[in-house]
Amino acid sequence: MKFAITSKGDHKSDMIKAIIEQYLSDFDLEVDLDQPDLVISVGGDGTFLHAVHHYFHRLKNTAFIGVHTGHLGFYADWLPEEIEKLVIEIAKKEYKIVEYPLLEMKIYRKNEAKPERYLALNEATIKKVEGSVVLDVIIKGEHFERFRGDGLCVSTPSGSTAYNKALGGAIIHPSLSTMQITEMSSINNRVYRTIGSPLILPSHHVCQFKPVDQSQSFLITIDHVTKSVDHISTIEYSVAEERIRFARFRPFPFWKRVHDSFISDQR
Ligand code: NAD
Repeated sequence: MKFAITSKGDHKSDMIKAIIEQYLSDFDLEVDLDQPDLVISVGGDGTFLHAVHHYFHRLKNTAFIGVHTGHLGFYADWLPEEIEKLVIEIAKKEYKIVEYPLLEMKIYRKNEAKPERYLALNEATIKKVEGSVVLDVIIKGEHFERFRGDGLCVSTPSGSTAYNKALGGAIIHPSLSTMQITEMSSINNRVYRTIGSPLILPSHHVCQFKPVDQSQSFLITIDHVTKSVDHISTIEYSVAEERIRFARFRPFPFWKRVHDSFISDQR
Protein backbone atom coordinates (compact mmCIF):
# COMPACT_ATOMS: atom_id res chain seq x y z
CA MET A 1 0.00 0.00 0.00
CA LYS A 2 1.32 3.44 -0.98
CA PHE A 3 0.63 6.49 1.12
CA ALA A 4 1.03 10.28 1.15
CA ILE A 5 0.90 12.60 4.14
CA THR A 6 -0.08 16.27 3.95
CA SER A 7 0.53 18.75 6.77
CA LYS A 8 -0.95 22.09 7.80
CA GLY A 9 2.63 23.33 7.86
CA ASP A 10 2.92 24.37 11.51
CA HIS A 11 5.62 22.86 13.76
CA LYS A 12 3.32 20.36 15.53
CA SER A 13 1.69 19.09 12.31
CA ASP A 14 5.08 18.77 10.54
CA MET A 15 6.44 16.82 13.51
CA ILE A 16 3.49 14.42 13.56
CA LYS A 17 3.71 14.02 9.80
CA ALA A 18 7.42 13.05 10.14
CA ILE A 19 6.63 10.53 12.92
CA ILE A 20 3.80 8.86 10.95
CA GLU A 21 6.02 8.70 7.84
CA GLN A 22 8.83 7.08 9.83
CA TYR A 23 6.51 4.54 11.50
CA LEU A 24 4.83 3.58 8.20
CA SER A 25 8.22 3.26 6.45
CA ASP A 26 9.34 0.95 9.31
CA PHE A 27 6.44 -1.28 8.29
CA ASP A 28 7.79 -1.19 4.69
CA LEU A 29 4.97 0.96 3.38
CA GLU A 30 5.99 3.24 0.55
CA VAL A 31 5.50 7.01 0.14
CA ASP A 32 3.95 7.91 -3.22
CA LEU A 33 2.89 11.52 -3.55
CA ASP A 34 1.49 11.03 -7.07
CA GLN A 35 -0.53 7.85 -6.75
CA PRO A 36 -1.24 7.15 -3.09
CA ASP A 37 -3.79 4.55 -2.00
CA LEU A 38 -4.14 6.36 1.31
CA VAL A 39 -3.76 10.08 2.07
CA ILE A 40 -3.25 11.07 5.70
CA SER A 41 -3.95 14.72 6.38
CA VAL A 42 -2.38 16.21 9.53
CA GLY A 43 -3.75 19.56 10.73
CA GLY A 44 -7.44 20.45 10.69
CA ASP A 45 -10.47 20.35 8.42
CA GLY A 46 -8.86 23.05 6.24
CA THR A 47 -5.80 20.81 5.69
CA PHE A 48 -8.13 17.92 4.91
CA LEU A 49 -10.02 20.01 2.31
CA HIS A 50 -6.70 20.99 0.67
CA ALA A 51 -5.62 17.32 0.56
CA VAL A 52 -8.90 16.18 -1.00
CA HIS A 53 -8.77 18.93 -3.64
CA HIS A 54 -5.18 17.97 -4.46
CA TYR A 55 -6.22 14.35 -5.13
CA PHE A 56 -9.68 14.98 -6.65
CA HIS A 57 -8.39 13.45 -9.92
CA ARG A 58 -7.93 10.03 -8.30
CA LEU A 59 -10.93 9.71 -5.98
CA LYS A 60 -11.62 6.15 -7.13
CA ASN A 61 -8.21 4.94 -6.02
CA THR A 62 -7.46 7.01 -2.95
CA ALA A 63 -8.91 6.90 0.55
CA PHE A 64 -8.51 9.71 3.08
CA ILE A 65 -8.01 9.97 6.79
CA GLY A 66 -7.46 13.04 9.00
CA VAL A 67 -5.41 13.61 12.15
CA HIS A 68 -6.11 16.87 13.99
CA THR A 69 -3.47 18.94 15.70
CA GLY A 70 -5.87 21.65 16.92
CA HIS A 71 -9.49 21.16 17.97
CA LEU A 72 -11.47 18.07 16.93
CA GLY A 73 -12.18 18.38 13.22
CA PHE A 74 -15.14 17.05 11.35
CA TYR A 75 -12.91 15.25 8.86
CA ALA A 76 -9.72 15.34 10.94
CA ASP A 77 -10.86 13.12 13.80
CA TRP A 78 -7.76 11.18 14.96
CA LEU A 79 -5.87 12.60 17.93
CA PRO A 80 -2.07 13.05 17.80
CA GLU A 81 -1.86 10.68 20.84
CA GLU A 82 -3.48 7.94 18.75
CA ILE A 83 -1.00 7.88 15.87
CA GLU A 84 0.86 4.75 17.01
CA LYS A 85 -2.44 2.89 17.11
CA LEU A 86 -3.41 4.37 13.75
CA VAL A 87 -0.12 3.34 12.12
CA ILE A 88 -0.48 -0.26 13.35
CA GLU A 89 -4.06 -0.34 12.05
CA ILE A 90 -2.90 0.99 8.65
CA ALA A 91 0.00 -1.46 8.41
CA LYS A 92 -1.74 -4.57 9.70
CA LYS A 93 -5.40 -4.32 8.84
CA GLU A 94 -7.64 -4.11 5.81
CA TYR A 95 -9.51 -0.89 6.31
CA LYS A 96 -13.18 -0.29 5.76
CA ILE A 97 -14.16 2.30 3.19
CA VAL A 98 -17.00 4.72 3.88
CA GLU A 99 -18.17 6.80 0.92
CA TYR A 100 -19.84 10.23 1.11
CA PRO A 101 -21.48 12.26 -1.69
CA LEU A 102 -19.81 15.26 -3.34
CA LEU A 103 -21.25 18.31 -5.09
CA GLU A 104 -20.67 18.93 -8.79
CA MET A 105 -20.73 22.52 -10.05
CA LYS A 106 -20.51 23.52 -13.70
CA ILE A 107 -19.97 27.18 -14.61
CA TYR A 108 -21.17 28.10 -18.10
CA ARG A 109 -19.75 31.42 -19.27
CA LYS A 110 -20.99 33.63 -22.09
CA ASN A 111 -19.23 32.82 -25.39
CA GLU A 112 -17.63 29.66 -24.03
CA ALA A 113 -18.99 26.35 -25.27
CA LYS A 114 -17.58 24.15 -22.52
CA PRO A 115 -18.34 24.67 -18.83
CA GLU A 116 -15.73 24.72 -16.09
CA ARG A 117 -16.40 21.76 -13.81
CA TYR A 118 -15.65 21.64 -10.08
CA LEU A 119 -16.20 19.23 -7.21
CA ALA A 120 -16.81 20.30 -3.62
CA LEU A 121 -16.58 18.27 -0.43
CA ASN A 122 -18.37 20.86 1.75
CA GLU A 123 -20.13 23.40 -0.42
CA ALA A 124 -20.07 25.94 -3.23
CA THR A 125 -21.34 29.49 -2.63
CA ILE A 126 -22.10 32.47 -4.82
CA LYS A 127 -21.67 35.98 -3.41
CA LYS A 128 -20.64 39.46 -4.55
CA VAL A 129 -18.04 41.89 -3.27
CA GLU A 130 -20.47 44.80 -3.71
CA GLY A 131 -24.23 44.92 -3.96
CA SER A 132 -26.81 42.15 -3.92
CA VAL A 133 -26.67 38.89 -5.79
CA VAL A 134 -29.65 38.81 -8.15
CA LEU A 135 -30.26 35.53 -9.93
CA ASP A 136 -32.97 33.18 -11.10
CA VAL A 137 -33.13 29.82 -9.40
CA ILE A 138 -34.21 26.99 -11.69
CA ILE A 139 -34.95 23.56 -10.27
CA LYS A 140 -35.36 20.57 -12.59
CA GLY A 141 -35.85 22.93 -15.53
CA GLU A 142 -38.64 24.99 -13.87
CA HIS A 143 -38.21 28.59 -12.74
CA PHE A 144 -38.48 28.52 -8.93
CA GLU A 145 -37.70 32.07 -7.74
CA ARG A 146 -35.72 35.23 -8.37
CA PHE A 147 -33.24 35.51 -5.48
CA ARG A 148 -31.97 38.84 -4.18
CA GLY A 149 -29.64 38.97 -1.22
CA ASP A 150 -26.11 38.32 -0.03
CA GLY A 151 -25.81 34.97 -1.76
CA LEU A 152 -26.64 31.28 -1.88
CA CYS A 153 -24.85 28.20 -0.56
CA VAL A 154 -25.18 24.71 -2.04
CA SER A 155 -23.80 22.07 0.28
CA THR A 156 -23.14 18.35 0.46
CA PRO A 157 -24.43 16.24 3.37
CA SER A 158 -20.98 16.14 5.03
CA GLY A 159 -20.67 19.90 4.41
CA SER A 160 -24.06 20.44 6.05
CA THR A 161 -22.29 20.88 9.41
CA ALA A 162 -20.01 23.61 7.99
CA TYR A 163 -21.09 26.91 6.34
CA ASN A 164 -24.58 25.50 5.71
CA LYS A 165 -25.14 25.08 9.45
CA ALA A 166 -24.20 28.70 10.12
CA LEU A 167 -26.83 29.71 7.54
CA GLY A 168 -29.58 27.78 9.34
CA GLY A 169 -29.50 24.74 7.06
CA ALA A 170 -30.34 21.25 8.26
CA ILE A 171 -27.70 18.69 9.21
CA ILE A 172 -28.01 15.81 6.75
CA HIS A 173 -26.70 12.29 7.19
CA PRO A 174 -24.13 11.58 4.44
CA SER A 175 -25.76 8.27 3.56
CA LEU A 176 -28.35 10.44 1.76
CA SER A 177 -27.28 11.46 -1.74
CA THR A 178 -28.55 15.02 -1.65
CA MET A 179 -27.56 18.67 -1.97
CA GLN A 180 -28.96 21.52 0.10
CA ILE A 181 -29.53 25.14 -0.94
CA THR A 182 -29.43 27.77 1.81
CA GLU A 183 -29.93 31.51 1.56
CA MET A 184 -27.63 34.24 2.82
CA SER A 185 -29.76 37.19 3.93
CA SER A 186 -32.39 37.23 1.21
CA ILE A 187 -34.38 40.42 0.64
CA ASN A 188 -38.04 39.69 1.35
CA ASN A 189 -40.71 42.38 1.19
CA ARG A 190 -43.81 43.19 -0.87
CA VAL A 191 -41.70 43.48 -4.02
CA TYR A 192 -39.16 40.69 -3.66
CA ARG A 193 -39.94 37.17 -2.50
CA THR A 194 -37.85 34.03 -1.95
CA ILE A 195 -38.80 30.78 -0.26
CA GLY A 196 -36.77 31.65 2.84
CA SER A 197 -36.24 28.00 3.84
CA PRO A 198 -33.38 25.64 3.03
CA LEU A 199 -34.18 23.28 0.14
CA ILE A 200 -32.95 19.68 0.04
CA LEU A 201 -32.75 18.18 -3.44
CA PRO A 202 -32.38 14.50 -4.34
CA SER A 203 -29.56 13.22 -6.52
CA HIS A 204 -31.67 13.12 -9.71
CA HIS A 205 -32.53 16.86 -9.53
CA VAL A 206 -30.35 19.50 -11.16
CA CYS A 207 -30.45 23.09 -9.98
CA GLN A 208 -29.32 26.14 -11.95
CA PHE A 209 -28.56 29.72 -10.97
CA LYS A 210 -28.80 32.30 -13.77
CA PRO A 211 -27.50 35.79 -12.93
CA VAL A 212 -29.93 38.44 -14.18
CA ASP A 213 -27.05 40.77 -15.16
CA GLN A 214 -24.47 38.59 -16.88
CA SER A 215 -21.91 41.40 -17.09
CA GLN A 216 -21.45 41.36 -13.31
CA SER A 217 -18.63 39.66 -11.49
CA PHE A 218 -19.39 37.10 -8.75
CA LEU A 219 -17.38 35.53 -5.97
CA ILE A 220 -17.62 31.78 -6.18
CA THR A 221 -16.29 29.68 -3.33
CA ILE A 222 -15.64 25.95 -3.59
CA ASP A 223 -14.77 24.73 -0.08
CA HIS A 224 -11.67 26.79 0.90
CA VAL A 225 -11.11 28.18 -2.63
CA THR A 226 -12.48 31.59 -3.72
CA LYS A 227 -12.65 32.69 -7.35
CA SER A 228 -13.90 35.85 -9.01
CA VAL A 229 -15.90 34.90 -12.10
CA ASP A 230 -17.59 37.15 -14.65
CA HIS A 231 -19.81 36.65 -17.70
CA ILE A 232 -21.63 33.75 -16.05
CA SER A 233 -24.65 32.60 -18.03
CA THR A 234 -25.56 29.62 -15.81
CA ILE A 235 -24.15 27.69 -12.89
CA GLU A 236 -25.42 24.14 -12.64
CA TYR A 237 -25.34 22.09 -9.44
CA SER A 238 -25.93 18.39 -8.94
CA VAL A 239 -24.85 15.52 -6.73
CA ALA A 240 -21.59 14.32 -8.33
CA GLU A 241 -21.13 10.80 -9.67
CA GLU A 242 -17.80 10.65 -7.86
CA ARG A 243 -17.76 10.07 -4.11
CA ILE A 244 -15.11 10.66 -1.50
CA ARG A 245 -13.74 7.54 0.21
CA PHE A 246 -12.80 7.68 3.87
CA ALA A 247 -10.59 4.98 5.39
CA ARG A 248 -12.30 3.86 8.59
CA PHE A 249 -10.24 1.98 11.19
CA ARG A 250 -12.80 2.30 13.97
CA PRO A 251 -16.47 3.16 14.09
CA PHE A 252 -17.17 6.87 14.51
CA PRO A 253 -20.84 7.28 13.63
CA PHE A 254 -21.90 10.55 11.99
CA TRP A 255 -24.26 11.60 14.83
CA LYS A 256 -21.50 10.98 17.40
CA ARG A 257 -19.20 13.14 15.29
CA VAL A 258 -21.88 15.87 15.24
CA HIS A 259 -22.35 15.54 19.01
CA ASP A 260 -18.62 15.66 19.74
CA SER A 261 -18.06 18.62 17.39
CA PHE A 262 -20.94 20.78 18.55
CA ILE A 263 -22.27 19.60 21.92
CA SER A 264 -19.29 18.25 23.88
CA ASP A 265 -16.22 16.16 23.15
CA GLN A 266 -15.78 13.60 25.92
CA ARG A 267 -12.99 11.62 24.33
P1 NAD B 1 -11.48 28.01 8.25
O1 NAD B 1 -10.12 27.63 8.69
O2 NAD B 1 -12.01 29.36 8.58
O3 NAD B 1 -12.47 26.84 8.77
C1 NAD B 1 -13.69 27.13 9.16
C2 NAD B 1 -14.18 26.12 10.20
O4 NAD B 1 -15.01 25.18 9.53
C3 NAD B 1 -13.14 25.29 10.97
O5 NAD B 1 -13.44 25.35 12.34
C4 NAD B 1 -13.35 23.86 10.45
O6 NAD B 1 -13.08 22.87 11.43
C5 NAD B 1 -14.83 23.90 10.12
N1 NAD B 1 -15.28 22.92 9.14
C6 NAD B 1 -14.81 22.67 7.90
N2 NAD B 1 -15.51 21.70 7.33
C7 NAD B 1 -16.44 21.30 8.23
C8 NAD B 1 -17.49 20.35 8.21
N3 NAD B 1 -17.72 19.62 7.14
N4 NAD B 1 -18.27 20.24 9.31
C9 NAD B 1 -18.06 20.99 10.41
N5 NAD B 1 -17.10 21.93 10.48
C10 NAD B 1 -16.31 22.08 9.39
O7 NAD B 1 -11.63 27.89 6.70
P2 NAD B 1 -11.02 26.82 5.74
O8 NAD B 1 -10.04 25.98 6.46
O9 NAD B 1 -10.61 27.56 4.52
O10 NAD B 1 -12.32 25.92 5.44
C11 NAD B 1 -13.24 26.29 4.49
C12 NAD B 1 -14.58 25.96 5.03
O11 NAD B 1 -14.94 26.93 6.01
C13 NAD B 1 -15.68 26.05 4.00
O12 NAD B 1 -15.85 24.83 3.31
C14 NAD B 1 -16.89 26.44 4.81
O13 NAD B 1 -17.73 25.34 5.09
C15 NAD B 1 -16.34 26.95 6.11
N6 NAD B 1 -16.84 28.31 6.31
C16 NAD B 1 -17.73 28.50 7.32
C17 NAD B 1 -18.30 29.72 7.52
C18 NAD B 1 -19.29 29.88 8.63
O14 NAD B 1 -19.52 28.90 9.36
N7 NAD B 1 -19.89 31.05 8.78
C19 NAD B 1 -17.96 30.81 6.71
C20 NAD B 1 -17.04 30.60 5.70
C21 NAD B 1 -16.48 29.32 5.49
